[in-house]
Order: sequence, then C-alpha cells, then structure tokens
Amino acid sequence: MHNTQNLEQTAHILNLALPKMASLAIPVTPENYAIWFEYFAETNLNLKRSIDGLIANGVKFTPEVNLGLYNRFIEERSPEIIENVQIETHILINSLLSKIEQLNEGTEKFSSNLNQYGEKLQTNPNVDDLNLIVMSIAAEVEQVIAKNRQMSSSLETLSTEILHLKDEMDNLSKVAMMDELTSLKNRRSYELFAAEQVTKFVDTQTVCSLLMIDIDDFKQFNDTFGHLIGDKVLAYVALAMKNTVKGDDLVARYGGEEFVVMLPNAKLNDAVKVAEKIRERISLKQLSIGKEKKQNLGHITVSIGVATINTGDDVDTLLSRADEQLYKAKAAGKNCVKFG
Ligand code: GH3
Ligand code: MG
Ligand code: MG
Repeated sequence: MHNTQNLEQTAHILNLALPKMASLAIPVTPENYAIWFEYFAETNLNLKRSIDGLIANGVKFTPEVNLGLYNRFIEERSPEIIENVQIETHILINSLLSKIEQLNEGTEKFSSNLNQYGEKLQTNPNVDDLNLIVMSIAAEVEQVIAKNRQMSSSLETLSTEILHLKDEMDNLSKVAMMDELTSLKNRRSYELFAAEQVTKFVDTQTVCSLLMIDIDDFKQFNDTFGHLIGDKVLAYVALAMKNTVKGDDLVARYGGEEFVVMLPNAKLNDAVKVAEKIRERISLKQLSIGKEKKQNLGHITVSIGVATINTGDDVDTLLSRADEQLYKAKAAGKNCVKFG
C-alpha cells in the first residue's frame, strides 16, 4: 500500500479506536490497541464478529477477555503486529508523557514543551520522528532533574524507563525494516527509501535507478532440492547482491524470490553495469551444500529489469517500468538484463 495512504488510514483508525476503548474502559496497552486496531481496520472479520458478539451480549472487557481476544486473534499473526510498531510506540510514548505530566504538575516550562511533543504525536509521526521525540524528552527530563533535586529520584526512574523504551524502539524499528530470512531490508524499508529518492529527484534532479531481480525457475529448484535448501539459496543470492553494490545502494527483498536494488545517483548505463555484475556473479557460482558429503546444487540464475527515474515518475511508475523490463528479460529466455 502507498505510504501516505497508509498513514492517513492509520490515523483514521487511531481516532476510532481510542474513544471506543475509553468508552469500554479498556486500558490502552499495545496488546489491547492491536485488537482494536484490527477491529476498526476490518482486516480480520472473525475478530470483528467476536467483538460485536461480546458487545451485543453486554460482556465486560475484563483483562481476561482482552487477553483471550489477543491470544486468539493477534498473537498468531505477530508479523503484522510488528507492522504496527509505530502505533504501539506512539501509545507507549503517550502514556509515558502523561506519567511525566503527573510528576511535574507545577513545572510550567516543562509542561509546555511536553504539550508540543504531544501535538507532534497527534500528527502521526513516523518511527524516526518518534525517535527524535523520545530523545528530546530524555534530554528534557535530564534538565528537569538538574533543576529539581527533590524530584530527582522519581524522574531518574522515569529517565531510565525512557532510555529503555528508546532501546526497545530501536530494536523494534530495526526488526520492522528487516527481512529475517535474508537479513536484507524488507519491502517496507525499500518503499521508504524509494520515496526519499523520488523526492530528491523532484527537488534536486538527482537521478536514481532501480533493479528488479527475480530468481529464474525457482519453483523448479525448490521442487528438486526442497524448500529448506531453497531458503539457503535465497540467503546466498541476497549476500551476493549485497556484496556487489556500494554502501549507498539499498538491496531489499521485495517478496518471495524477488528483490529490488535502488541505486542513488546512478544513471541507466551505470545501473545496467551493476545489474550485469550481479547477474554474472550469481550465474557463475557453483552451488553446493554440506561439508563432508557435499551435495551439488548446480547453478542458479536471475533475470533483471532496470529502469531510471524520469520526470513525472513516482515510486509506483518507476517500479512498474523496472518490472516491465524484468518481464522482457524472462521472455527473452531468462538469465539476462533488460533495460529501458
Ligand atoms: P520464473 O523464472 O518465471 O521466475 O519462475 P519461478 O519458478 O521462479 O517463478 P514462480 O513465480 O512460478 O515461483 C516462484 C517460486 O519461488 C515459488 C516458491 O516456491 C519460491 N519461493 C518464494 N518464496 C520463497 C521462500 O521464502 N523460500 C523458498 N524456498 N522458496 C520461495
Ligand atoms: Mg517471482
Ligand atoms: Mg522467479
């Protein structure tokens, strides 16, 4: 889904979920929030039906009921919950802010800064903004500690809590950006990076190029050697790509056996050279597995479509041109690079 749309929709759901939870006296914990986020997102009809049933029967949302809903509908789908890390963090920070506020009644300057952060949170900030806000709050707390010795012990506890939260957030945002199997960046990460590159092109005419890479006949490979070996090969291909590009370039797993490489500052002919290097490197490698009893896996190849950003492009048009070229590469017999 397009990112801006995603944010707007998320904000909309947030506005529906929080008042509803308040009216049912449900504490805003990340777990409960996840339940009600899904309820209003209407992505899980079984969950929606269950909750509607509970409401119709006047059932109270006790901690047990909430936990039951969480276990039944959310826990099993944890990868999607990670997607919601931004929201969860948002909630955590909000509750932290209200705690600080309680502790600091009477410290006017501090509260007015807090309000600013509170307002900023209302604008549905991204993970980086949230990081910045947490760091600013941490700095603020430190200042107040210096000024108000009598409050220092409770504020220090809070300060530790914030630092802990920041660590947790760093981890979560890393996880939310990573593909576990290949240790590459994931699609979400690519989308954010691509949007930055498009903006940079619009603002400063700095070009960028995109490679779309798809492993050839991978279904056949899996059928021959099994999925587990297939997974190892995916990780190998990921590493081969990563080792072929420069530090500024972003290699991401787009999904399944498809990858994207975004090359900032690269014109079409530079990008084609990189694509050709990746293609060659992978096709030349004799794959094998096991130490003592080596099993020969033969060779694997990739097809690559290349596109460069043009005036009027957005993230989607750039990707679809790379995809068209990839399609041509497949049609031309695979293990080749097409561009245009
Ligand atoms: P083509 O050359 O046209 O791309 O053929 P293909 O077989 O690679 O393409 P197809 O889209 O028919 O199948 C993609 C295969 O990739 C199917 C699936 O088994 C495999 N695949 C996708 N994701 C994973 C994964 O995470 N692990 C493994 N082992 N295989 C995967
Ligand atoms: Mg494919
Ligand atoms: Mg394929």
